[in-house]
Amino acid sequence: MSKRAVIAGAGLTGLSAAFHLKKAGIEPVTFERNKYPGGLCASLAKNGFIFDFAGHYFHFKNSYAKDLAFGLLGGKLNEIKRKAAVRVGEEQIDYPFQNNFAQLKDKSLVSECEQGLKERKPRENYGSFKEWILGEYGKGIAEHFMLPYNEKLWQHDLDAMLYLGTTSYTPSAKTAQKKDGYNASFFYPSEGGAGEAAKALAALAGEIRYGNRICSVNVSTRSVTVEDNIVFEYGRLISTLPLPELIEMIPAAPVAVKKAAASLRYSSVFALNLGIKRTGISDKHWIYFPDKSLPFYRVGFYSNVAKHLAPEGTTSLYAETAYPGGAVIDREALTARIKAGLIKAGILKQDDIILAELPMNIPCAYVVYDLEYKTHTGLIFDYLCSQGIVSTGRYGGWAYSAMEDALLDGKNAAEDVLDA
Ligand SMILES: Cc1cc2nc3c(=O)[nH]c(=O)nc-3n(C[C@H](O)[C@H](O)[C@H](O)COP(=O)(O)OP(=O)(O)OC[C@H]3O[C@@H](n4cnc5c(N)ncnc54)[C@H](O)[C@@H]3O)c2cc1C
Repeated sequence: MSKRAVIAGAGLTGLSAAFHLKKAGIEPVTFERNKYPGGLCASLAKNGFIFDFAGHYFHFKNSYAKDLAFGLLGGKLNEIKRKAAVRVGEEQIDYPFQNNFAQLKDKSLVSECEQGLKERKPRENYGSFKEWILGEYGKGIAEHFMLPYNEKLWQHDLDAMLYLGTTSYTPSAKTAQKKDGYNASFFYPSEGGAGEAAKALAALAGEIRYGNRICSVNVSTRSVTVEDNIVFEYGRLISTLPLPELIEMIPAAPVAVKKAAASLRYSSVFALNLGIKRTGISDKHWIYFPDKSLPFYRVGFYSNVAKHLAPEGTTSLYAETAYPGGAVIDREALTARIKAGLIKAGILKQDDIILAELPMNIPCAYVVYDLEYKTHTGLIFDYLCSQGIVSTGRYGGWAYSAMEDALLDGKNAAEDVLDA
């Protein structure tokens, strides 16, 4: 019997790869360290609330991915018109900031933004993400929103980041004048949480071994070792694990490849999910917070996206806080800072009753496009390719991508395996 295709990770990418292989008549086996499918696109229930890993909304640019998602969910995806805001000091204006800064009552900020737009010098190419922000938006919008917000999110010097990759999800000054950016509306399941898509895909993805963490990969025997020293030989390996972790698991990887993998930069996110015994806190789906005196960069309201995510008479929300990739955090202290920040921002009240609290730590959340990004990833992917390993998905492909891309990455990986 020929060796089976092995998939590392049952997030949306791994599940999509397994689903497409199975559809083509191949029986893959997927190893997943969690006891449930979906990775970051899973939903977890607590005390009657359904929580996602912070905001997880579908956006579709590709008709195949859209049809696949609709098919998986039996059409049960609602299109929702975005209601988002930006908090600037004490004021709240509509998102996107660059289209709505005139709503600010502080007219000195408005004229700084207008002046910046007049003086900006857009060009074809920029040396860094910071240059791109200044060139596309001008100084005022940059200083009052784009720079502080992105510094909070990426936890990296924006002048030491490429502008490629981060921009397709950020409306440029030009496009923003015409429309409301890439996420003016979004799709969300009309039953359950964002994880419904992953659950449906898992049911069609063949054998998935849950609670099976892959610990090492032997490229000469073409085998993976799973916890408890179980060795499993593979015909082809599709990995969706974070790239630095995958390389660390391959003892035979050349030193230069290991060094490149250890140099990859990312930010981590701590998402605090709360269920509150109160309604009417906000009518927004989410609010951006560029203010650096508050720990979180975004707060979102699950129960405003879909009522069924929270019991009657309650509100459910998440606060997303980024920290430098891989840093050790004191979760209790950070939780206390986030709650204090939510009170300062007028979202929580001192005497609010918290019915559910579910922190979700995402150690590898945002891939940083630092200035060595292309050199390092090029070296790593050349090596993996030479070993017949397909590394893909948001973290396997080391990219700023979304759930739609995950569905397509999985499909492409399956096709690579079938073509080989
Ligand atoms: C804060 C945040 C908000 C986001 N919001 C959105 C949004 O609104 N819309 C959108 O489209 N996208 C959003 N995304 C992106 C989206 O989460 C990803 O594109 C998608 O979930 C990536 O799927 P994946 O399968 O590639 O990775 P993952 O979901 O990370 O899946 C990888 C899987 O591998 C498993 N694994 C890891 N190590 C091992 C191991 N050693 N052995 C076995 N299994 C292992 C993990 O448990 C996981 O299940 C967001 C991401 C973040 C971080």
